[in-house]
Formats: sequence, structure tokens, C-alpha cells
Amino acid sequence: MAIVRAHPAAVADAAHILKRGGVVAFPTETVYGLGAVALDAGAVARIFEIKHRPQFDPLIVHVGDDAMLAQVARAVSARARALIERFWPGPLTLVFERQPDVPLIVTAGLPTVAVRMPSHPVARALLRETGAPIAAPSANRFGGLSATRAQHVEHMLGAEVELILDDGPTQLGVESTILRLEPTAALLRPGALPVEEIEAVIGPVQREVKEDAAAPLAPGRLAQHYAPRTPLRIADLERVPLERRAGAGCLAFSIAPQGYAAARVLSTSSDVREAAAHLFESLHELDALGLERIDAEPVPEHGLGLAIMDRLRRAGA
Ligand code: AMP
Ligand code: MG
Repeated sequence: MAIVRAHPAAVADAAHILKRGGVVAFPTETVYGLGAVALDAGAVARIFEIKHRPQFDPLIVHVGDDAMLAQVARAVSARARALIERFWPGPLTLVFERQPDVPLIVTAGLPTVAVRMPSHPVARALLRETGAPIAAPSANRFGGLSATRAQHVEHMLGAEVELILDDGPTQLGVESTILRLEPTAALLRPGALPVEEIEAVIGPVQREVKEDAAAPLAPGRLAQHYAPRTPLRIADLERVPLERRAGAGCLAFSIAPQGYAAARVLSTSSDVREAAAHLFESLHELDALGLERIDAEPVPEHGLGLAIMDRLRRAGA
């Protein structure tokens, strides 16, 4: 653990840690973030591990320029472009269709990705030095308060974060405003940018959004919406009779048993973090095969195993 003033040399160190798959905490104009390279599923899994999240939430991807936006978002509509020109860099998060390269652990399995361009000079320098989009939720323990000072991060997560870039208290102190534009403009989370300012650019924005299965909205509630189309159940794979395996797929923790039509192994070394990094991709692949059923093996419920089991139980519900 190290809390360091965010001088250029420290930012360079942080970028180096990120590039080799590590996690660092850094200031933004809203709150402190806990970041990893967004295209690195294993590094992103480590974020959830450090936060002790019992479930997966979609993370906001931070970008430093248009090229990084293009790496994570498939298309930018004219309305999105108008908002970007007016409010980026700044505390506005926009939801886009995700580029296939964005690991599903970043979006918690959603087909969309939330993106923002921070204005904080340290966040911007970190993005520039890293040269890659950075996925970052707020740098607090699950259920804890968001961190507006490096010391808050140190208190809550210090022992587990390699480097905390300190640039004093954050300017805004509340999270970004999250806006969806498709199919209609809707406020998903009120935040540091007043919705009225958004409406001045694109017209009326829906304030209260009802859940619908096609467009999951908020954390927590979100989870039950991404489930494979293939029926999934949690099963002790070794005890499933051979004749029941033929038309089915299995999602194994570390060793796939014989006889299944298709198998995915989450971690050959029985590492729950590696398993978490592979979970969504594996479910997605199995789901695409038109199997009659997916048997998912329980994983140990410690660390990220808790979040994996939460997801599997919801998928199986
Ligand atoms: P935080 O990074 O802690 O400020 O919170 C990120 C929040 O962004 C999540 O809890 C979601 O509410 C929201 N979010 C992230 N990605 C998406 C998405 N693809 N669609 C809708 N909301 C999202
Ligand atoms: Mg948060």
C-alpha cells in the first residue's frame, strides 16, 4: 500500500502498474476511482475482489480522448455527440452499445457500456500515460461511502491497493450523472451534472425510469436481467448421470468432466478471481451453442466466489 502525491513520476508509476494488469486508486473531479485497464478482464476482476462486492455491477469506463471512446463504444449518435461536445470532459456518463472487445465483466454482462471522460488533470494524465480506457468504480468498500479524499481510500482499501494517487479532496464530491439515450433519453442516476443542463441541449429527459428486461438500468436490480437463454442450473457435475450430459453444456470451476456436449472451465488453477474474469464470456459462449441446458458447478464462496455464485443463482432462477 502506498499513498503518493500525484506528481508526474507517481502518475507514470500508476500507469505502469495498470499496464501490467494492476489496480490503482486515482482522483477524479467527482470521487476517487479504483481503476484497471478496461480491456483486461483479469485486472477488472481484481477491482471487484478489492471492493468485496458480493455481486457484479457494471463499471464506468473512463476515456481520455475520442480514440479511446471508439475502442469501447460501437457508435456515437448525433445526440450523444452534442452532449459530449458540451459536457466532456466532465461529470456526465453516457451509455453506449459496447464494442465486442470490452470484457463482459466490465458491463456485468450487459450489451451496453457506460463511458465518461473525466476532467481532473490527474485522471487525464493517467489515461494519457496508460494509453488505454480505464474501468473504475468508486474507490470504496462495497456498501461504504464514496471516497472524496485519498485518506478515505486508504482507510477502506489501503492494504489491497498497490498505489493511491493523492491530489487532495475531490472538487465535486458526488458521482457523475448517468444518462441513457436509447431508446429514449432517460436519467439512470442523478449526479454532479444537473439534468436541466442536459435538457437544455437535447430536450426532455425522462426522470423516473421503469425497469424493462431489454434495457436493465441500475445496479442490484440489474442482475436478474442478464441470464442466458439456455436454462441453467447449479449442479454437482460429477453426480450428473452420463446420459444427462450429452445434450447439455457445463460450466466447470477447474476440471470439466467427460461427456458434456460443450464445456467451459473457469479457472484451471481453482482461482476465484480468474474464474470471475472468465464467467460472463463463458456463459455467453455456452449460451450461443443452442444447448438444452447448462450445468454450472458451484464455486467456493470466498472472495469473488460470492459474486460468482450470486450471478449463477440469478441466472438459474
Ligand atoms: P460507480 O462507478 O460506483 O459510480 O457506479 C457505476 C454505476 O454506473 C453502476 O452502478 C450502474 O448504475 C451504472 N452503469 C454502469 N454501466 C451501465 C450500463 N451499461 N447501463 C446502465 N447503467 C450502467
Ligand atoms: Mg459506487
